[in-house]
Amino acid sequence: MNPTEPRAAGNSSTAAACAVAGGNVDVNADVKDGGNDAVNADVNADVNAAAVANGATTPTATVTTTATAGQPLLQLQDIRKSYNLGLPNQAEVLHGVSLALAAGEFVALIGPSGSGKSTLLNLIGLLEKPSAGSYRIQGQETTGMDDTALTQLRACTLGFVFQFHHLLPAFTALENVTLPSLMREGRVSAQQLQRAKEVLAAVGLEEAMDKKPGALSGGMQQRVAIARALVLRPPLVLADEPTGNLDTASSDEVFALMRRMHAELGTSFLIVTHDPRLAQRCDRVVELVDGQVLRDEVVKKG
Ligand code: ADP
Repeated sequence: MNPTEPRAAGNSSTAAACAVAGGNVDVNADVKDGGNDAVNADVNADVNAAAVANGATTPTATVTTTATAGQPLLQLQDIRKSYNLGLPNQAEVLHGVSLALAAGEFVALIGPSGSGKSTLLNLIGLLEKPSAGSYRIQGQETTGMDDTALTQLRACTLGFVFQFHHLLPAFTALENVTLPSLMREGRVSAQQLQRAKEVLAAVGLEEAMDKKPGALSGGMQQRVAIARALVLRPPLVLADEPTGNLDTASSDEVFALMRRMHAELGTSFLIVTHDPRLAQRCDRVVELVDGQVLRDEVVKKG
């Protein structure tokens, strides 16, 4: 199926809504079918990551969240994460992380390999659950939510960019960018199609919309992934080593694009990076060492 084509009535999902007004998030979704036809195509991508990046929803989500204006976008309090609970190899990898992010921040998350960056990003991305502590998104406590509610909240509030773009190779750039709409709502409206075209134009890919990922350079593929992360206008984009697979020139270009999207759209970014040069070009750097925040400071601009 062409993901940009509206589905026939009998084959469509009940729309999942993410209504945001005046600082309030009001989600009331009844999704009977996650719109997964597209993902059932013959693809070689990492489908789990692609599904997350594309805002996949699970069946029958009913979520109501109410956030208070003025709340931080994210607030983690004493977050702990252990793997292999109850087994001889049980290990705690996050030891009481507290962190708040305001709307519109542009933050680097750095730290040595094994310090817990990916674990923390997965927790913030609602892909993993903490073993202890509190995690609020726009004032809404997430730790007691079931998987369906978490999936819905993720689709409404978060965009993802990974080191490897996780675009679906059988689809064009435009189709890839419309997938979050398709997967969240079961169809792509004319308005969403237009929005996807606008975001692709904004990332400089107006001429490449009809090309498949294999026909694009690494930097262009990552620009498509950024467009896909932004198309539903999430308040926060989580990026895990988004330039880690690129040469210096492409890396600079992709980073500059994220900064520009942040400036133009006001989207918050939390970016895991190993590259100190890029971290210094963020507004704030959080450094994780051995599962704890060692440093959290504003970057002084020369
Ligand atoms: P980083 O992203 O900073 O390299 P990670 O979050 O990937 O760190 O890993 C932190 C620690 O948690 C490491 O010791 C890693 O081996 C361990 N770890 C990560 N994921 C799992 C898992 N699924 N099961 C068990 N241990 C894990």
